[in-house]
Amino acid sequence: MFDYLIVGAGFAGSVLAERLASQANKKVLIIDKRNHIAGNAYDHYNDDGILVHKYGPHIFHTNAERIFEYLSQFTDWRPYEHRVLAEVDGQLLPIPINRTTVNKLYNLDLQTDEECEAFLASRAEPIEHCRTSEDVVVSKVGRELYEKFFRGYTRKQWGLDPSELDAQVTARVPTRTNTDDRYFTDTFQAMPLHGYTRMFEKMLSHPNIKIMLSTDWREIKNVIPYKEMIFTGPVDEFFDFRYGKLPYRSLEFKHETLDQEQALPVAVVNYPNEHAYTRITEFKQLTGQEHTKTSVVYEFPQAEGDPYYPIPKPECTTLYNQYKALADATPGVHFVGRLATYKYYNMDQVVGQALATFDKIIGTKKVSVPEKAAVSPTRTGGATRIAVSGPAMVAKNPATPGASGTNAASAASNGISGGTGSLKTPAP
Ligand code: FAD
Ligand code: UDP
Repeated sequence: MFDYLIVGAGFAGSVLAERLASQANKKVLIIDKRNHIAGNAYDHYNDDGILVHKYGPHIFHTNAERIFEYLSQFTDWRPYEHRVLAEVDGQLLPIPINRTTVNKLYNLDLQTDEECEAFLASRAEPIEHCRTSEDVVVSKVGRELYEKFFRGYTRKQWGLDPSELDAQVTARVPTRTNTDDRYFTDTFQAMPLHGYTRMFEKMLSHPNIKIMLSTDWREIKNVIPYKEMIFTGPVDEFFDFRYGKLPYRSLEFKHETLDQEQALPVAVVNYPNEHAYTRITEFKQLTGQEHTKTSVVYEFPQAEGDPYYPIPKPECTTLYNQYKALADATPGVHFVGRLATYKYYNMDQVVGQALATFDKIIGTKKVSVPEKAAVSPTRTGGATRIAVSGPAMVAKNPATPGASGTNAASAASNGISGGTGSLKTPAP
């Protein structure tokens, strides 16, 4: 008899399997309906030998030292700070919107934070309570920048207008008045040195853990005995859609390998306005792999398909709360993760939620789910702590000229404009 049946071998399931096995000596069976571990963070070497993320780009970032240290037991890290350019009005401009974005777009020469702040304030619309994803952006940068950078992207990504989505969606992307062009400003930003799947393999390599892949939980729930269950799949599916389907947004990924060393000026280029896809990612720029060819992925949002994103809007939250009440009243089953708790969580938040669940199960309380950064403009400067193969160390801030940025990263910080070279557009 297993102590725990864990459904789903992503971050939520695998962290709990590891903790229960190694810290509480529990016998665990972890299953996944896919033919691999690591959930949506799964990466693998493609036919050309390039490490790619099957389900789109996954960049690890967190402010929670305990979460970073927890994962550091299972991987060394490659320091990596993410930079993204958005194609707007024929130029490639830094997103999050910063002073460089404003200067290049409007052909200005704003020199200081104060000048940029005054410029944005002159366009911003005062909104007392930012309720929607439109409010968040319009109240910071005004309607024109909102239209150029956010409205089209959001409508594509979610199939909804930003005015229909909770503020938290676009609030993930800050506005800056300095020239910091990093996508995230978290204290810890790094990629698992040998990839996510290798990290998961280490997490799950405990004699108390058995793994069963290509198995839906319904196939085995009445066959294999267990005492308790941890469920990390979609919560509405667990309850046979009793109150109706909870909407999740899906994506189609088009992977492509090009016979050239580099395809993009930075790891990710966003396309807010043109094209059916939202963004293109070049994996070698995330992983640091050297190879004569390069692999990219295009993301085409869609309503049907694997559930990737819970949809943060009031009607969905109301429906989820009905399922949550059922979940809370189901003894012996713990619901954890992005799909089972219907939360737009990043990887670190799911790890935090899983660690907190473990503490609750064994009767202690130590970890909470990290809050994400607020919407307010972020300051450039200060040192960034990055751990490389062991204890955390302080790295020079790559936003500083001459610090540890890659060529592509420096291209981004220089606000390089232009197209995306010889990339051809796949059909959706
Ligand atoms: P999942 O990884 O979805 O794992 C759930 C598992 O349960 C799946 O493997 C599924 O197959 C399995 N399952 C479901 N139903 C059943 C069933 N009936 N029987 C058996 N198994 C079942 N986060 C970041 O921090 N940084 C990023 O850059 C980032 N980028 C992202 C990009 C994309 C395109 C997406 C979609 C997400 C991204 N995320 C990112 C979020 C990240 O993927 C999640 O936070 C994390 O993977 C969630 O882990 P999880 O275990 O909750 O869910
Ligand atoms: N967003 C946008 N334009 C961009 C980047 C983001 O409108 O260039 C909005 C969009 O609604 C997106 C949300 O901000 O879904 C959050 O962006 P993030 O990059 O965090 O999305 P994720 O990586 O989770 O897909």
